[in-house]
Amino acid sequence: MRRFLIAGNWKMNCGPADAAELLEGLKENKAEVADEVDVLVCPPFVSLSMSVNYLHDTDIQVGAQNLHFEDNGAYTGEVSASMLVEAGCAYVIIGHSERREYFGETDETVNKKVKKALSADLVPVICCGETLDQRKAGDHFDLVKTQITAAFAGLSADEALDTVVAYEPIWAIGTGETASPEQAQEMHAHLRSVLADLYDEDTAEGIRILYGGSMKPGNAEELLGQKDVDGGLIGGASLKADSFAEVITIAEKLSA
Ligand code: PEP
Repeated sequence: MRRFLIAGNWKMNCGPADAAELLEGLKENKAEVADEVDVLVCPPFVSLSMSVNYLHDTDIQVGAQNLHFEDNGAYTGEVSASMLVEAGCAYVIIGHSERREYFGETDETVNKKVKKALSADLVPVICCGETLDQRKAGDHFDLVKTQITAAFAGLSADEALDTVVAYEPIWAIGTGETASPEQAQEMHAHLRSVLADLYDEDTAEGIRILYGGSMKPGNAEELLGQKDVDGGLIGGASLKADSFAEVITIAEKLSA
């Protein structure tokens, strides 16, 4: 059995003061003793350093929600991979659907960012997923194949093993709608086979594929119970310490 990764995507929530409160709650909920589960929080840029400091005595890791693919220079408003490393980040979310929709992220920029993250020893959490219209039209399998094939272009199998994939159906993000466990498993198995075609079975097996889209304590067990679901990327429910800790506890129990 793979080791679950439970990741919180805080999006544009929690400046340093709110972050401290949320992390304090997480510690109180004893999430840091989740020995069998990897735990990650992804605060906004301004709260990264304080989150790293705050969590230094725990196993909880910190990641960013984006990076630029250039090293430095005249890119107003952007943050580089080396800056994230300096701030203490271990992971970075890349290609979230909100970045694709609102900030012009493309399959090509996702690929550049994945390469830059890997070159800086940051683990990229590569997001993919379809809209409701694409699913209704039956295009969802081809769509995520295109996204993943582009994101991994030029990566060796060893590099691919240092990545995490997150399947996030856009119709399930922040909507309260969730993919059924069967829909999640079906897509995760498809992603696994896409990765096996790009590399080989062992590599595909070694890459964690997270589910994201309204995961919460009430549905985490059945989603995480699917064979190819290796964890969760969690938005709304990661902003409450007790619900995030509950999902971690569910993952921990499933790992036993
Ligand atoms: C996300 O944005 O990564 C996400 C999964 O959000 P939510 O859990 O709120 O649907």
